[in-house]
Amino acid sequence: MRTDAAPDVKDAAITADALLRASPLPALEARMLLMHVLGWRRTELITRGDQVLDAARVAAYRALEARRAGGEPVAQLVGAREFYGLTFEVTPDVLIPRPETELLVETALAAIEGMAHPRVLDLGTGSGAIAVAIASARPDARVWAVDRSVAALDVAARNAQHLLDAKRPGGPLTFAAASWYDTLDPSLRFEAIVSNPPYIASGDPHLDQGDLRFEPRGALTDEADGLTALRAIVAGAPAHLAPGGVLWMEHGYGQAEAVRALLAAQGFAEVRSEKDLAGIERISGGRIGA
Ligand code: GLN
Repeated sequence: MRTDAAPDVKDAAITADALLRASPLPALEARMLLMHVLGWRRTELITRGDQVLDAARVAAYRALEARRAGGEPVAQLVGAREFYGLTFEVTPDVLIPRPETELLVETALAAIEGMAHPRVLDLGTGSGAIAVAIASARPDARVWAVDRSVAALDVAARNAQHLLDAKRPGGPLTFAAASWYDTLDPSLRFEAIVSNPPYIASGDPHLDQGDLRFEPRGALTDEADGLTALRAIVAGAPAHLAPGGVLWMEHGYGQAEAVRALLAAQGFAEVRSEKDLAGIERISGGRIGA
C-alpha cells in the first residue's frame, strides 16, 4: 500500500486550462486565484495554459477555489488588491480597497497641488491605501495615518514600507493608534484631511452580503445611523486644519446631502460633493476659511 499522497490518474494530467475551464467561479476570479497559486502573470496563463501542474499546486488552487465559493473575498485569499496603480497587502483586519475610493485620492491630490510639503492626515487608514497612494503621488507630502485598530496599522505600515521610496522628501508616514483626532499633537495643522470611515447604517442588509461579511465590521458600520464617524470627523476638523485647508470624506449612497449640511454647519466653505464612476455622490468636502 502506498502511504504517500499520490495524485490520482486524472489529477496527474491537470493543466491550468483544465482547472480554469472546470471552475465554478467567474472566470476573472478563477484566473486571479490560479495566478496567485502558480506565481504566474496573466500572459503566462495563456502561454503556459497547457502545462501539466504538480499535484500540490492543483490542491492549493482547489482549496482557494472552495473558500471563494464559500464567500471569502478574492483580495483576502490572494492577500492583495490593486488600488491607485499600487498593489496593497490585504488581510481580514482591513477594509479591502475599493476603486471608487480612488476619487477621494484624486480630489485630495488636486486640493494640495502646487503646495510645497503639504501635511495630509488620513483618518481610519485601514490598509493605508489612501495615505500611501497620496504619499506615492506626492513624495514631498508629510502624511499622518490614524486607525484605532493596531492590526490594521501593522498592515498599513507594511504597505508604506513596501510601496514608498525610503528616501521620499516628505519622510516616512507617521502612524498613530487612536480614535480620529484623539492623540494628535494639538498644535499640528493639516492642509488636507481625508477619510473613508465606517458609514454603513447598522441595519443595512449589505453588511450580510458578499465580501462585506468577511471584512472588519468596525471598518464598515458605526452600528448606528451611518453618520456617527462622519459627524465626529467633521466636528474635529476645524481645530486641525491649517487656514484654507480642506476636508474630504467618502460616504454612502444617499448621505451626500447630510454630510454637506454637517460641513456647512461647521463653517466650511466651498462645500460640494463629487460623483463616482457609477454617477453616485460618493465623496463630500469643503475648505475651512483662510
Ligand atoms: N464602500 C464600502 C461598501 O459599501 C463601505 C466602506 C465604508 O464603510 N467605508 O461596500
